[in-house]
Amino acid sequence: MKRLLLPLAATALLTGSGCYTNPVTGRQALMLISKGQEMSLGAQSFAEMRKTQKVSADPAMNARTQRVGERIARAVGNQLPDAKWEFVVFESKELNAFALPGGKVGVYSGLLQLAENDSELATVMGHEIGHVIARHGAERMSEALVIAGVGAVGAAVAENKYDAQTRDLFILAYGGATTLGRVLPHSRNAESEADKMGAIYAAKAGYDPRGAVTFWQKMAAQKAAQKEGAKMPPWLSTHPSDAKRIADLQAYLPQVIPIYEAARTQGP
Ligand SMILES: [Zn+2]
Repeated sequence: MKRLLLPLAATALLTGSGCYTNPVTGRQALMLISKGQEMSLGAQSFAEMRKTQKVSADPAMNARTQRVGERIARAVGNQLPDAKWEFVVFESKELNAFALPGGKVGVYSGLLQLAENDSELATVMGHEIGHVIARHGAERMSEALVIAGVGAVGAAVAENKYDAQTRDLFILAYGGATTLGRVLPHSRNAESEADKMGAIYAAKAGYDPRGAVTFWQKMAAQKAAQKEGAKMPPWLSTHPSDAKRIADLQAYLPQVIPIYEAARTQGP
């Protein structure tokens, strides 16, 4: 508990506000990193990933990802006013997607193929956009600061310089990014929160929220099939168990279907 004194130093160093209220769930999150620092780190990491991973040139996949991403970003409105949205398809069979601070979303081509219709894709993109708006990466880093003290992470953020380890911490906090080597478990709470936010955003954008249920059923089937043969994608093994996730998403339907119906009558 003595270590809780360190955030005082961290706060002074990082000029963060100390607390962030999630605009959808109302949850208060520890936040010792400013939005500006978070955005800068996200942009740098994303640029790096675009260099080290193969970006898809498939026009149909790209058009689809832009369309769904932009529609959800519009539905999010002003919840993260400085967000600079960018939606990129990476060439990979992996059933994976990730988000980085400030509005960077990557979707792997394998996952795009699994998400047959736009409502299913909206489930994935809504979830990732939920991570961005919830600022889960910065929250995770803030927690790391409390545990580790200001140290290397704080210094790196303060100077706007990030070593590979710091970058990994951020990226992993947002999910995916298996090519960066280390895999940390996702926070179950962050995953559930992103699911809930994603369901609301997708519905507001006019995508049928029932797509979340069919999509996760397919993911569960893939997982079962892959368990037999090849290795399981880390995204699947670290996200909340499929059965629980599907049950939770089903439980949200009475809340989000009216939002979807309203959006549908108004048009996107
Ligand atoms: Zn996630």
